[in-house]
Amino acid sequence: MIIQRVVLNSRPGKNGEPVAENFRLEQSTIPDTIQVGQVRVRTLYLSVDPYMRCRMNEDTGSDYLLPWQLAEVADGGGIGVVEESKYNSLAKGDIVTSFNWPWQTVAILDGSLLQKLVPQLVNGRLSYFLGAAGITGLTALLGIKEKGHVAAGANQTMVVSGAAGACGSLAGQIGRLEGCSRVVGIAGTDEKCSILVQEMGFDAAINYKKGNVAEQLRELCPGGVDVYFDNVGGDISDAVISQMNQNSHIILCGQISQYNKDVPYPPPLPPDVEKIRKERNITRERFLVLNYMDKQEASVLQLCQWIQEGKLKVRETVVEGLANIGAAFQSMMSGGNIGKQIVSVSK
Ligand code: NAP
Repeated sequence: MIIQRVVLNSRPGKNGEPVAENFRLEQSTIPDTIQVGQVRVRTLYLSVDPYMRCRMNEDTGSDYLLPWQLAEVADGGGIGVVEESKYNSLAKGDIVTSFNWPWQTVAILDGSLLQKLVPQLVNGRLSYFLGAAGITGLTALLGIKEKGHVAAGANQTMVVSGAAGACGSLAGQIGRLEGCSRVVGIAGTDEKCSILVQEMGFDAAINYKKGNVAEQLRELCPGGVDVYFDNVGGDISDAVISQMNQNSHIILCGQISQYNKDVPYPPPLPPDVEKIRKERNITRERFLVLNYMDKQEASVLQLCQWIQEGKLKVRETVVEGLANIGAAFQSMMSGGNIGKQIVSVSK
């Protein structure tokens, strides 16, 4: 059977910006028949995520991520429909997902590596399983629960960087649902800031590309910052951490501003900021959602319930067509997305 697939065409280099041309669409073939234990799936949605930047390097710099190989098909979070099954617990028509879905239109996969999804949980919005009801939602929820020390009634102020992105837009809303009394977002355009406040219930939002972040933070967080959901690192995070309270908490979710640089993860803070962190006993522990997968089932149910009740507003930026996945990745890495960046492969 003839299929389309996307392979890694070139590496951007450890210090380079990724571009669409780092990926290449090509035609390939898969066998016409499947073996016992296998399923043939048609891809519906693929996820592009910041961690993939590390997989573009020959050495990913982390022990849980394998590098993509040149001229080989890329992979990541994906959702598809079973077209044929020789695996006991999956049948034609089932909707399934995997963290290692190949970037191709149709694939033959090992049934035991797929998770079956329940479309009713998201009212049929299947792409949500890659975002708000998937790893992204889990990252926001479990990051807050495991590292945020949020307590209802404690009058806490939360700041979220990368706030209009996939994790950030959910994290601010979940911070509120869990009991923070004030939530302030930091994002890269006025449109994003306005969506955060008008649609997602943030109390305020700062456009970090306009004006002085530290000054605006002082104004918007007069009682200081108690919880910081950090998606970006760098100067923005230095400004936030400098205004954090005694015994406060950083949720070290990601450091996207550093991903095109050859620096260790997590990058050390500048000495003056690290001094503040230590003096004020601010926690900054590494958080990796994959370490909490025992909490996946209950947490996904919680996220789906909030979505159904309208308590969690979801935004997606959907790009059509496998051929455009490289462009979607490039765009997301430079702030072109609002909410979760999704690639729709076929209906
Ligand atoms: P995303 O936020 O949807 O996309 C990245 C966003 O970051 C962009 O939209 C952009 O928006 C902002 N950004 C990009 N470069 C920036 C820079 N130099 N300075 C400030 N902001 C910048 O991606 P996501 O999926 O939600 O991921 C957010 C973070 O969480 C990433 O660091 C990712 O690695 C991390 N993550 C961690 C885990 C975990 O287990 N710890 C799991 C998933 C994701 P602006 O317009 O605002 O610049």
